[in-house]
Amino acid sequence: MSTLVISDLHVDIQTEDGPKQILKGVNLTINPGEIHALMGPNGSGKSTLAYAIAGHPKYEITQGTVTLDGEDITEMSVDERARAGLFLAMQYPVEVPGVSVANFLRTAKTAIDGEAPKVRTWVKEVEQTLADLQLDKSFSSRSVNEGFSGGEKKRHEIAQLQLLNPKAAILDETDSGLDIDALRIVSEGVNKYSAQGDRAVVLITHYTRILRYIEPTFVHVFVDGRIVAEGGKELAENLEAEGYEKYIKEAANA
Ligand code: ADP
Ligand code: MG
Ligand code: MG
Repeated sequence: MSTLVISDLHVDIQTEDGPKQILKGVNLTINPGEIHALMGPNGSGKSTLAYAIAGHPKYEITQGTVTLDGEDITEMSVDERARAGLFLAMQYPVEVPGVSVANFLRTAKTAIDGEAPKVRTWVKEVEQTLADLQLDKSFSSRSVNEGFSGGEKKRHEIAQLQLLNPKAAILDETDSGLDIDALRIVSEGVNKYSAQGDRAVVLITHYTRILRYIEPTFVHVFVDGRIVAEGGKELAENLEAEGYEKYIKEAANA
């Protein structure tokens, strides 16, 4: 069972001019097996939410809590959060020169589980996962993110998701920069992960395109550091037709 609960989350970012409030009270409960799509205009604070939950030091939680399966992770370090079962796919994944994909995955798996995976089954599992994502076998000996195409970065994220198998995943713009084939492959990977039935997924996106492949349980509209509307997948279709303007105006007048 994996329930991610975000309660009244307020977050400041550190800027040159001092702290600036970005999140202004976010409430969100993701029950096991649910996929929540978080949609909103540029600059509304979606990535800030993802980074704050991941424990990025630049993002200060000034109020509110995040719990995973009842465990308060608000004050945990990034490593502790990963061990608690949280996974964050970064919008801009970092390069790790000199560390191969295979070593990176194995190190991450070992850190999260507290013991090294069994070599035989692990190697097979890695090979199968990369093959499913239509990544070449040689991919595992390449340096993490070095010279990866946009599509390779995203597939690598999904490989991590499947192999590390966290309790909860926050996927920030996993769909950006993907062609239609890559989008389908990446979506299948997310669906496979979610289909285990007890995982919690937050899917952050600008576009409804990915929601043709990944069916969200709920859709939330995010404007100016808050969730301002919630609904089922039909809400995404309305957004596609109408845009965010109505919600932006409402938020400005609130
Ligand atoms: P989204 O992911 O929804 O596009 P972000 O979370 O990336 O939004 O950004 C939220 C807000 O924080 C934006 O208004 C952005 O300009 C602001 N912001 C992010 N980083 C900084 C920074 N280093 N200095 C000043 N403002 C920032
Ligand atoms: Mg942005
Ligand atoms: Mg963003």
